[in-house]
Amino acid sequence: MTGWSGPPPLAVVVDLDDTLYPQASYLAGAAAAVGAAAADAGLDGAAVHAALVAELAAGSDTGGTIDRALLATGVDPAALPALLPPLVAAFTGHVPDRLPTYPGVEAALTALAAAVPLACLTDGAPVIQRAKLAGTGLDRLLPLVVLSDELGGRATRKPSPAGLLAIAAQLGVPADRLLMIGDRPGKDVAVAAAVGARAIRVRQGEYADAPDVPAAWAVTDTFPGAVACALSVIGHPTGDGDLTRRQDVPAWDSRTGALLSMTGAPGDPFATEPRADR
Ligand SMILES: [Mg+2]
Repeated sequence: MTGWSGPPPLAVVVDLDDTLYPQASYLAGAAAAVGAAAADAGLDGAAVHAALVAELAAGSDTGGTIDRALLATGVDPAALPALLPPLVAAFTGHVPDRLPTYPGVEAALTALAAAVPLACLTDGAPVIQRAKLAGTGLDRLLPLVVLSDELGGRATRKPSPAGLLAIAAQLGVPADRLLMIGDRPGKDVAVAAAVGARAIRVRQGEYADAPDVPAAWAVTDTFPGAVACALSVIGHPTGDGDLTRRQDVPAWDSRTGALLSMTGAPGDPFATEPRADR
């Protein structure tokens, strides 16, 4: 990344899956629910469960994962239309009691919420996304949640700008003054670019090894790292409603996640300073 230039963000938007919690934990529970439903339908539940886990590991949002899992276990293609509805219902109806968040997420969100308006933008079936959010317990820290599918179905999923435009309108800020934090370059970084905003990529989860295309403003290895990076340009609450904005805007090494420092141009209010004297 480069140092921040221009006015600071006025609000931060966070992704949900693989940004705040490991989506694999949700998928594991949903796959188990499908296995149980398959057993109820007279199939080999353990085999269907195992095949679905393998399909989800190969790509969780490719569609048709249950179909392929059934075929992989030897189910007659002609039987799919009758078998699929209860199994799909088991998947979409899975409500996790609790989903583990990544380390430090709750504290980081709390710190962020104290400094700037906060929203969540997530893709996927709304009933599932709501169940995931409730399972993490983070819903109480996210007063504004926009489910892109509710705006216009799959067509308004990231990187469609619809979600960020809706959030900007609800918060009353220009869309290009939002800062997006998310794990997927092709969705979270791209949606920010679609409205002229910047993004911090968190390199974790299913897409941890995806190339940095399009390039994010910053790349970190953890969500708390991303929040520290965001707060360095937003400023920290002073307790009296003001923000103390640091002049040393850190740069992050996209390969190691290490905090770098750099010196900006004289006169740039967001320029960085050497850290040697700190
Ligand atoms: Mg995600």
